[in-house]
Amino acid sequence: MADKYEQVLELAKRRGFIWNSFELYGGTAGFYDYGPLGAMLKRRVENIWRDIFVINEGYYEIESPTIGIEDVFIASGHVGGFSDPLTECQKCKEAFRADHLVQDVAENPDTLSADELTEIIGKNNIKCPECGGRLGKVYEFNLMFKTSIGPGGKRAGYLRPETAQGMFVDFPRLLKFYRDHLPFGATQIGKAYRNEISPRQGVIRLREFTQAEAEIFIDPRDKTHPKIKEVENIELNLYSQEGQSTGEMQKMSLGDAVKNGIIAHEFLAYCLAMTSRFLIRVGVSPEKLRFRQHMKDEMAHYAADCWDAEILSDRFGWVEVVGIADRTDYDLKAHAKQSEKELSVYVSYDVPKKIERFIVKPDMGILGPKFKGKAGKIANALKALKAGELSGDVIELEIDGEQIKIEKDAVKFESITEEVHGENIIPHVIEPSFGIDRIMYSLLEHSYFEEEAGKEDVIEEEKGEGTEAEEVEEKRIVLRLPPEVAPVQAAVLPLLSREELIKPGNEIVAKLRKAGILVAFDDSGTIGRRYRRNDEIGTPYSITVDYQTLEDSTVTIRDRDTMKQVRAGMSDIADSIYDLVYGGKSFEDAGKRI
Ligand code: AMP
Repeated sequence: MADKYEQVLELAKRRGFIWNSFELYGGTAGFYDYGPLGAMLKRRVENIWRDIFVINEGYYEIESPTIGIEDVFIASGHVGGFSDPLTECQKCKEAFRADHLVQDVAENPDTLSADELTEIIGKNNIKCPECGGRLGKVYEFNLMFKTSIGPGGKRAGYLRPETAQGMFVDFPRLLKFYRDHLPFGATQIGKAYRNEISPRQGVIRLREFTQAEAEIFIDPRDKTHPKIKEVENIELNLYSQEGQSTGEMQKMSLGDAVKNGIIAHEFLAYCLAMTSRFLIRVGVSPEKLRFRQHMKDEMAHYAADCWDAEILSDRFGWVEVVGIADRTDYDLKAHAKQSEKELSVYVSYDVPKKIERFIVKPDMGILGPKFKGKAGKIANALKALKAGELSGDVIELEIDGEQIKIEKDAVKFESITEEVHGENIIPHVIEPSFGIDRIMYSLLEHSYFEEEAGKEDVIEEEKGEGTEAEEVEEKRIVLRLPPEVAPVQAAVLPLLSREELIKPGNEIVAKLRKAGILVAFDDSGTIGRRYRRNDEIGTPYSITVDYQTLEDSTVTIRDRDTMKQVRAGMSDIADSIYDLVYGGKSFEDAGKRI
């Protein structure tokens, strides 16, 4: 029997959600197209992400190029270290991730070096999983797609492996945009590219995928969150470092998790709350969602704390879909070093601080005539000295390898007390990084149901005049997508394909379109089959026009999940559907309007 993954993909392909890219030419692993319904579903998911991060949190969206110059990825560490260990079969030439091949015989294979992996493969006599051939020496394969910018191929460029660098590189501009105040955040939704070695996990591991990322720049001295009260009672499934050592997941409120030191600080906890809110809103089942903390040896050396949102899938188990990290000042420091620009923020103190400062004043009237061209260097060297080094009658300096003696009257020094109003600090970065495609697959899987539907649809049909007896398909596939993400939001179905019913049907379609509702008109086949077709693509509401419509201007609205029907007025049908889709109105209320 087909497993859930196969069932979901069969439906996704047949109904136009997800297709293999380049199918005409046989396809290539790691690339998928979104068909008409998939692309619309993806837009809706992305727009809910925008609603949460851009509109509600105020982290404006930017758009930077998908090709980056080499400096950017030298600074980010991708040129030097964004690689996976690869081994090639000497016989069939197929490539494999070496760390995946040794999974059963080595602990923490992703922490092993290429040489260690080669040794383990040899010792354990591991062969090519495809043809049984001998495997070659393991080497690190950089996952970035490399290209060149401009003709001649001299200037290296890379397809970005994440969207995040766009926000880091724009930091000085963003800081000005946000009028030099922390915290602020910027977001980006866009394509990222990784030349994955052997993407055998279908839609889970892609070579081109969409990320939605936020980089939130905060004051490192204050990692509290102003809105923590709003989320502190939210309970999440937390799989902490300690929990993983005993194999125990805990349901815990975010407030308690911060109090008990499980989550490093409020800002991170707030990001976990936003992530959970988003995933559940787009249709991920809450009981199939957990937050797993990175173990110490898994976490990047610079990170203060890191949590992955993981979703349970039937075939792949727990899959990472979001990474949420406190990246400290790592990225800004790295770009400051590479670009030789200062990337910091001036922060004012609430109360000015008094500080003792030692100042050295070289007397250029004496140094200038005596040392001529060297006087400047000597003055700078003197300024760098401490009080004790300046106390003798003669000060000895080494300038460009030459020993120079300075008389004490050529330099004055003193300690002064100064009032300081602020300082330059390098912000820390909190980064939630979402993989939209994995989320898309997860919500399709979680909303996919095959069930007995019974004969509900026939009742309405028999009200029509001259209806042929309907063949009822008692089994149905239904996508229980949340109404606000369903690609088609309403279907208009004249009970029979007759002019007198088609006309009011078209009027309803026009009204719904004007209200921004994506609506499908379908008058072919029996009403039962049309309901089934719409159930399968997750259309939450079907509006049926029947002979009663002609008498009293009412229609039926059928709810996809319960298959219940209510009669509603045709004149305000657009408001009814809009309220159901976006306004959280109950289905029964839609019928009370008339
Ligand atoms: P990372 O930068 O590796 O932490 O990735 C951030 C998010 O991007 C992950 O949580 C995934 O959801 C997604 N992602 C990473 N690699 C892939 C891939 N090869 N295919 C699809 N999604 C990916």
